[in-house]
Amino acid sequence: MDVVTTIAAARERRSVDRTAGRTVALVPTMGYLHEGHLSLVRRAHTLASSVWVSIFVNPTQFGPGEDLDRYPRDLERDLALLERENADVVFAPSAEEMYPEPPKVTIGYSGLENVLCGASRPGHFAGVGLVVSKLFNIVEPDAAVFGQKDAQQALLIRRLVEDLSFPIRIDVAPVVREPDGLAMSSRNTYLSAGQRRAAPVLYRALLTARDAIAHGERDPRRVEVILREVIAQEPLATLEYAVCVTQDDLQPPNRIDRPVLLALAVHFGTTRLIDNMPVDPKEI
Ligand code: AMP
Repeated sequence: MDVVTTIAAARERRSVDRTAGRTVALVPTMGYLHEGHLSLVRRAHTLASSVWVSIFVNPTQFGPGEDLDRYPRDLERDLALLERENADVVFAPSAEEMYPEPPKVTIGYSGLENVLCGASRPGHFAGVGLVVSKLFNIVEPDAAVFGQKDAQQALLIRRLVEDLSFPIRIDVAPVVREPDGLAMSSRNTYLSAGQRRAAPVLYRALLTARDAIAHGERDPRRVEVILREVIAQEPLATLEYAVCVTQDDLQPPNRIDRPVLLALAVHFGTTRLIDNMPVDPKEI
């Protein structure tokens, strides 16, 4: 496994793959890897002959007062995990390498970036779009793998790739969970023991809401009430949002007559957790 930290070295390593006739699948991450990330790496192996993983805690997607400085980092451990997964190349640049100057270009999505997570994290998806575009231009992958865990991000990346004509196949992998249902996240390490015990309430809320749809509930507002009620039963949880929206434009439908996304953001103290579940009323 090769580890490259500069853009020039990444481009040189990419040309080695190209000369050898290898296709490349990229898995962008912010590191502190867990099974969710590793499931993406395994999918990447099915999509291309050379698997690249980027590890970069991207400052432009963090707002003032967010957890950029305390975001967990452990490059040595990440590299050991990736070695075991037979990753071919790890691109782990510094912030100075990626942003020698503060960037002036911003990426917008005509409002799609201002709903759900974007409502409380202004500028977040602009930063995501910028760094993903840079990674795509540096690595020039044939495919890139993202997680359904960040459903809004996956949707916006698909738009980015389509609208900017990146010749890259986007693959979205299902959410990987702990045995008790908590979606894996690098931020789970922030939780106290009590908060950790309470955190599976997100998954329980999603399952309860999905059950209601399975039993014929078709009013998205009723489904949102169910999500809110389950979260409200957990005293350590503070709800940020609970929505039932269409999968293609994240807007509330009048009725649940097409695939919807149930999505939640919940705070436990200073830790913000998100989770979601796509539900197709015709298939449950
Ligand atoms: P992050 O390091 O949090 O930026 O995540 C890197 C990629 O891994 C993103 O595409 C995430 O959606 C994905 N990811 C994070 N957690 C999970 C999970 N529990 N299951 C599946 N994918 C995940």
